[in-house]
Amino acid sequence: MAKRADTFNLSDLSKLSQDDRIAAMRMVAEGEMTIDEAIAKLKTQTGSADKSMTLKGVGHFGRGFARRAFRQNRGRLFLDIRVQKASAFCVLTVTVREGRDLIAMNKNNTADPQLKIWLTPDEKATKKKSNVRKNTVNPMFNETFRWEVRTGDVENRQLKLVVSEYSKLRRSQFMGSMTFPLAELFEDGHREGWFRLLDAKKGDFQYIPFRPKVKDDTQVSVRKGGQQAQAKMPPAPSRAKPAPAPAQEPAKSESRAQTLSKTQSAAKDFGKVDQSTFTYLKVLGQGSFGKVLMAEHKKSRDVYAVKVLKKEVVVEDDDVDCTMTERSVLAMASRCPFLTTLVASFQTPEHLYFVMEFVTGGDLMFHIQKLKRFSYEQTAFYAGEICLGLWYMHSHGVLYRDLKLDNVMLAGDGHIKIADFGMCKENIWGAGTTTTFCGTPGYLAPEIIRELPYGASVDFWSLGVLVYEMLVGDSPFEGDDEEELFDQILHHKVEFPSRLSADCKAFVDSLLTRDPRHRLGCGPSGQQDVKAHPFFKIIDWAKLEKREVKPPYVPRVNDPRNADCFDPEFTEADTRLSPADPYAIANIDQGVFRNFSFLNDGYFGGEQGSAKVVEDPLVRRPALFDYAWYRPDLPREEAARNLRGKPVGTFFVRESSSQPGCYAIAMVSENNKIWNGLVTPSITSDNRTLYKLFVKQKFESLPELIDYYCSHPVTTGPSGKKLCLRK
Ligand code: ADP
Ligand code: MG
Repeated sequence: MAKRADTFNLSDLSKLSQDDRIAAMRMVAEGEMTIDEAIAKLKTQTGSADKSMTLKGVGHFGRGFARRAFRQNRGRLFLDIRVQKASAFCVLTVTVREGRDLIAMNKNNTADPQLKIWLTPDEKATKKKSNVRKNTVNPMFNETFRWEVRTGDVENRQLKLVVSEYSKLRRSQFMGSMTFPLAELFEDGHREGWFRLLDAKKGDFQYIPFRPKVKDDTQVSVRKGGQQAQAKMPPAPSRAKPAPAPAQEPAKSESRAQTLSKTQSAAKDFGKVDQSTFTYLKVLGQGSFGKVLMAEHKKSRDVYAVKVLKKEVVVEDDDVDCTMTERSVLAMASRCPFLTTLVASFQTPEHLYFVMEFVTGGDLMFHIQKLKRFSYEQTAFYAGEICLGLWYMHSHGVLYRDLKLDNVMLAGDGHIKIADFGMCKENIWGAGTTTTFCGTPGYLAPEIIRELPYGASVDFWSLGVLVYEMLVGDSPFEGDDEEELFDQILHHKVEFPSRLSADCKAFVDSLLTRDPRHRLGCGPSGQQDVKAHPFFKIIDWAKLEKREVKPPYVPRVNDPRNADCFDPEFTEADTRLSPADPYAIANIDQGVFRNFSFLNDGYFGGEQGSAKVVEDPLVRRPALFDYAWYRPDLPREEAARNLRGKPVGTFFVRESSSQPGCYAIAMVSENNKIWNGLVTPSITSDNRTLYKLFVKQKFESLPELIDYYCSHPVTTGPSGKKLCLRK
């Protein structure tokens, strides 16, 4: 979301807090208002601070908000709001149908959401409550709330909705909220659709409709396939990328050599990679965007790390480009031993999968929480290898932009592997710059906060923060909220414990130099300056580059499958992916993910460095909305009525309100009959959810099932009685 900043003139926004800036950009992106109107609206607003965003209280090196990259999504609610006008009184009726993608509140990735809804100001001050929905982030509420409001008593009154995690023992925890001005609702008479759940600050005064990129809900046609489908596809994203660098002699890497020999056997099997290629054993990490799972290749039994992103979230947050960048940088990274290697990538209609080498030693966040801080020798070694990784990226025109403890991992032998290329920016060469406001708050360089054009200098600032954290065991900049934190980054003089050596202090100071022109590592001789700094006097750079320096610390990894170096908060969590919203999926233009799927041949003993993009049948089709139809807001009978007269194979699907987890479908069969069916999910022994309808075949996802039936609609056989599939 913050990435949209590239398209706006940011100087107008600079007077707002970071949070409000994002809100303003959202409103503009949603087509709600102009940037000036958004700024005016937010400036007049004095909401209470959102406590969930404070830095203190998340604990020493906790993985709280301030340490997360900016991507927060609280999900959304489907509402039907009606006002019946009478002379003296009006009746306001709010039906809350369902919630989607709410924030998970516990380690099983679910929540017990409850909705509170009320009018302000209200002399009786009564909040109405929904029933608590258990263990779900996609609750079906289907509850209706009514108020009588005196006509003429609507000015300055508001309708408020808050969703919170219910707890018998504790105070309920805030999950998201929204506020509607009553006057607006009374003027419109009827509002229906998805609305985003906002953070406490924004949700206290505004609402934002959620609009998936739908062409036209009511226009339904059967799938036409073939040429027409092709013609509708947007042009391939043009990434003016220089020809890939010639494959280099791969640097010697113990762990990789081992994996290479181990995986030779899997090479043939890897011709085709999809979600059923693996058994998912554990959760390794949970980022702002998706899950990282430990996955075992079913045939070779080798273990990989698979990062799964929800397409829906990627599209919704306008992060398609960064995801494609993540894919392309990961693929490039296979040639540098200090960057995590991508083995393959593939997609389903709902998810994007990155299959990476499994970096068994865990991330530095895990180790620093155990060790409190690192010794000088350990820090210098890590910092040196991180520099080699950064220089590799910079020399390939890539800014990393998200250097932090969570994103730097340790291989089983103790060498560094940088992971997570989701914030990278490609095509920034030499002194080239960009302006996007993004990163993780505590690590942001002053030039990003000031919204100046910036280049590779930002990675050296973050390196300064990281080195400080490794040596001291605490962050150099802290604040109660982002404003205070940013103020510290811009003005605060960093303090060092007296035990640190002069070389260490000087090194961190020279990296945390606010003017990027004077920052260590940033000038034309940046690389030599860094290497020559007294801080690195113990480093033999020639050996370090060849991965020949003995790591000062080797993580204890007896059996990689135990995931000993990963936080139990993750490893004990459920490996299942929360189901995607078929409505949103049906409306995604799958063409934006073309060129995502990839197979790293070199990694499997083929020609080194010969990575190839895999043809993806999925993205050769148009978005599902061209031939399927998902309207969660319509009752089934009404939907079925609407289907009459539509071409054979036209499909309607919605979540069943009577049978949770099942989907009700209606489809036009031959002779214009409407066929009704129920899609029933089942869970396999390896914890995947499969969907079944009519035929024996089970499908990995609902969109795959819809896709199948659109081309083989259910129809009546020659006798006119028996149902069968049209061939
Ligand atoms: P996000 O973009 O959500 O931050 P990351 O790519 O940083 O996702 O992954 C989240 C966490 O998952 C990391 O902090 C790390 O602990 C773990 N992880 C990521 N990649 C790997 C990998 N290749 N091997 C093992 N663990 C990994
Ligand atoms: Mg990360």
